[in-house]
Amino acid sequence: KIVIASICVGYVAVKWNRPSFDPESLRGARVLVTGASSGIGEQMAYHYARFGAQIVITARREKVLQQVTEKCLSLGAQKALFISGDMSTESDPDKVVDFALEKLGGLDYLVLNHIGVTRFAMWDGDVDHVKWLMKPNFFSYIQMAWRALPSLEKSKGSMVIVSSMAGKLSNPFTAPYCSTKSALNGFFGALSHELAMKKSNVSTSLITLGLIDTESALNAVRGIITTPAYPATEAALNIIVTGATRQLELYYPWYTYVMNFFKDWYPPLTNHLIQNALNYDP
Ligand code: NDP
Repeated sequence: KIVIASICVGYVAVKWNRPSFDPESLRGARVLVTGASSGIGEQMAYHYARFGAQIVITARREKVLQQVTEKCLSLGAQKALFISGDMSTESDPDKVVDFALEKLGGLDYLVLNHIGVTRFAMWDGDVDHVKWLMKPNFFSYIQMAWRALPSLEKSKGSMVIVSSMAGKLSNPFTAPYCSTKSALNGFFGALSHELAMKKSNVSTSLITLGLIDTESALNAVRGIITTPAYPATEAALNIIVTGATRQLELYYPWYTYVMNFFKDWYPPLTNHLIQNALNYDP
């Protein structure tokens, strides 16, 4: 009872302390969203468009990006531009930030959301894949954050880092992905302290997501996980509000907060739940 009461109090305190969101604050805001050709990134682009923001989106597939920017304009974006880029390369992360800075005249929001393709499967010893996955999922994030920081400092802007429950709590079948998300949590957790200590104008928001109903996620877990998936459009809106209200963290959906809370209270229970949530027969 005490544990449940503590979780409820913690969750209500987090919700209650949430500053109110003014949609007008996003009108004309200069936003760069990565991984915006599909899934949560695409939905974020549409929400920013409805709020009247100026958007640059990026991913690898140019044709799809073009369609997303056209839809953004029809939804009310003040500006919608795209640039294709592969975040596993050395040069494209900088190229994309420079494009956004030039076309928008600076940035108010840097929303880092892309991920490289990885298998949902047991670890098979492929060290090279882990080394490669760190490039799009981690190194490009810190490269882009550093490149955008001076402009965000000027505009009192925000960095939004889309991470995962997998960055807080390790899950089977996702060892390479978990590693990259843990690295993100560690790095941006430290950076957020440093920015606060320097009295920087820049806020950071670290996003912890559970299973969201994007095509790629559902395809990966089909037949293995039966946990309900939450809607990408709602996840996207929650992420945007978290960034706009300069909150340090978002847990979406609610159960990610509970899981995170429990993991240090009684790990054997969490481990049991995690291992038995998957259909696996050796
Ligand atoms: P999607 O697979 O739907 O989208 C991934 C995006 O990244 C696409 O736009 C893709 O576009 C782009 N991308 C892939 N590889 C590269 C690359 N090498 N360089 C540049 N862009 C690339 O992912 P989701 O929407 O499901 O996930 C979005 C974020 O949410 C991720 O950070 C993920 O970790 C997080 N998350 C998602 C969960 C879920 O259940 N969906 C759960 C927890 C966290 P393109 O192919 O055109 O390059």
